[in-house]
Amino acid sequence: MSPQTTTAPTPAVATARRLAEELLAPHAAAVEAAGAVPRSHLEALAQAGLRAVDGDDALAVVEELAAGDLATAFVWIQQVGVARWLEAGSAADGRWATQLDDLRAGRTHAGIALQAALRPGPAAVVARRLTQDDDGDGWVLDGAVPWVTGWGLLDALLLTARDGEEVLFLLLDLRTVRDGDGDIPRLRAEALPLAAVRASRTVQLHLDGVHVGAGQLVARAQHAALLAGDAAGLRPNGSLALGLVLRCVRALGDGGGTAQHVERATALAAELDAVRQQLDAAGPAELPAARAAAVDLAWRAAATLSLTTGSSAVISGSLAERTVREALFLLVFGSRPAIREALLDGLLPGAH
Ligand SMILES: Cc1cc2nc3c(=O)[nH]c(=O)nc-3n(C[C@H](O)[C@H](O)[C@H](O)COP(=O)(O)OP(=O)(O)OC[C@H]3O[C@@H](n4cnc5c(N)ncnc54)[C@H](O)[C@@H]3O)c2cc1C
Repeated sequence: MSPQTTTAPTPAVATARRLAEELLAPHAAAVEAAGAVPRSHLEALAQAGLRAVDGDDALAVVEELAAGDLATAFVWIQQVGVARWLEAGSAADGRWATQLDDLRAGRTHAGIALQAALRPGPAAVVARRLTQDDDGDGWVLDGAVPWVTGWGLLDALLLTARDGEEVLFLLLDLRTVRDGDGDIPRLRAEALPLAAVRASRTVQLHLDGVHVGAGQLVARAQHAALLAGDAAGLRPNGSLALGLVLRCVRALGDGGGTAQHVERATALAAELDAVRQQLDAAGPAELPAARAAAVDLAWRAAATLSLTTGSSAVISGSLAERTVREALFLLVFGSRPAIREALLDGLLPGAH
């Protein structure tokens, strides 16, 4: 992947950078105060063709968006995950081609709730296979999804549920449920009072006997196999942390800064390139350490921005204040035991 700080950006990354600077960053504080990423933000990004971008470019796009507004980038990155599962589900027979096209064109927005059935231990959401007596072909879902991001913006949700030792990936069309019932019976969202990325519209989702048809099944796999392969999928969320660092590099190096600030911006940019390269080169065994390095850098970058800002960094709504709160989010979001241990070891060396 091309490190945006040292080489010319690709056209997609240049577009993401422009939108982040002209649309996302100027409105980020107001968007947070309003508590909701506007749908128009997602539409503007999709209309610029950013949904169709994949591979390394997609990661670089997430990084640029996160530099502008982490909440918007966080909602955005969910689509990347959904698209990957739909692609895999479509590989054989193109079954999800329409949904994939709609998602890529920005006609629809989708979220992803993996933790409900993927994390180790008992599942937060369980599926019971419908029998002939139930008069249907599919499953009934019960439980509570601890975190669902983008609620109110989403047309569809890729939800996991556990049926015995198997994990089901089910695409819920939230528009159908809403249009059909006026309300969402059996599906209740509880707002979470977030200290950071408030605008991500993250909720806890309670499911009380939600029926899903067999046709909504995108994929199924053994829980043990998914856990064994989990580390391989840790790269994309690392771009959120890289984006926060990129924001700090730019803020420190901004026109008004002193020579010392510019020097620190240069040092931070060099660390950013090194951590990005570490993430890009990492295989599954190295990814937890690389993710921890990215989060550690984001944390230090946010502290550096605060120190160079001075006491006005504690004023609510200032860039430094929001960035520090977002660094806290990155410290705990999308974590795994190996990431957490690497971070704790760095904070308190030799204390375990
Ligand atoms: C603001 C916010 C929004 C979020 N939005 C979403 C969302 O939209 N969709 C979503 O799926 N998640 C979402 N999450 C959840 C996020 O993925 C979790 O933060 C992450 O799983 C770690 O959470 P945890 O440390 O509380 O542990 P838990 O999720 O409670 O998991 C328990 C333990 O299992 C580990 N663990 C979790 N998953 C795995 C795994 N696959 N393999 C191995 N170990 C694992 C955790 O590290 C932890 O040690 C959100 C979190 C936050 C804070």
